[in-house]
Amino acid sequence: KTETEAELIGKQEVLTLYKPRKKYTNKGHYGHALIVGGSYGKIGAAALASRATLASGAGLVTVFLPKCGYQIMQTSFPEAMVVTDTDEELITQIAVNFNPSAVGIGVGLGTHDKTIIAFEDFLRKNKAPLVVDADALNILSKKKTLLKFLPEGSILTPHPKELERLIGTWKDDFDKLNKTKAFSKKHQVLVVIKGANTITVLEDKLYVNTTGNPGLATGGTGDVLTGVITGLLAQGYNPLVAAIFGVYLHGKSADIAVEKTGYQSLIASHVIETIGDAYLDLF
Ligand code: AMP
Ligand code: MG
Repeated sequence: KTETEAELIGKQEVLTLYKPRKKYTNKGHYGHALIVGGSYGKIGAAALASRATLASGAGLVTVFLPKCGYQIMQTSFPEAMVVTDTDEELITQIAVNFNPSAVGIGVGLGTHDKTIIAFEDFLRKNKAPLVVDADALNILSKKKTLLKFLPEGSILTPHPKELERLIGTWKDDFDKLNKTKAFSKKHQVLVVIKGANTITVLEDKLYVNTTGNPGLATGGTGDVLTGVITGLLAQGYNPLVAAIFGVYLHGKSADIAVEKTGYQSLIASHVIETIGDAYLDLF
């Protein structure tokens, strides 16, 4: 017997989670996030994620990229610090000289054998709260033995295909939720099932988001979500709150952006630009 509790997440719910900024604080109070991702031709994914990390309120962000991403990132996003791999096109060894408050890993990462080794090595050493997305999820699906290295409360953010690789095929939505709950319990992680009504799963509990729209069905919006959640984690929100608040803010940003862009022409960058409006809408 399983007892499912489902909670709808709207403005009233997130208002109780929101922590206001205090006057006598500086960037050191809001965490130093690390975004790990990008490969040749997919540096944009890391750029979107890191930009969203700062826009959600993190104090600092460092991006770890293959070498070819260095100039791209420094010119397109001067607010970020950049550390690069020794390899030109791939991430082959993840090394930074600070202890991140939170890490978002996987966007545009690729699944090259060398990158898989780097990811495994990173997981063995890492102690920071984690958001795992995109190719980092695909690597976990290929090498399930790595799941045991995820810190408790890690946030996994699969889209439907990534979820299928992770938990296998499902018969219907009920079966999908049951399999995801079992996965969450077994590995002690949060799973954010992305889609039109994104559902955050923590063991038997379900949190159903109420914001977002089909304008989000476009490349890069998932990378923005990874950045938003990583930014909230870095600010000290606990993993469950970071996940459900992040999903809410991301959807709300898209709802505000789409009023100007329409569904068809909304792109991921618009969603980053309206994160501030989504915060302001809380009051
Ligand atoms: P990804 O596929 O990783 O780029 O992630 C896509 C993002 O857009 C996720 O946050 C989804 O929840 C969101 N999204 C995609 N399609 C829709 C839709 N039809 N309605 C609302 N949100 C959507
Ligand atoms: Mg994605």
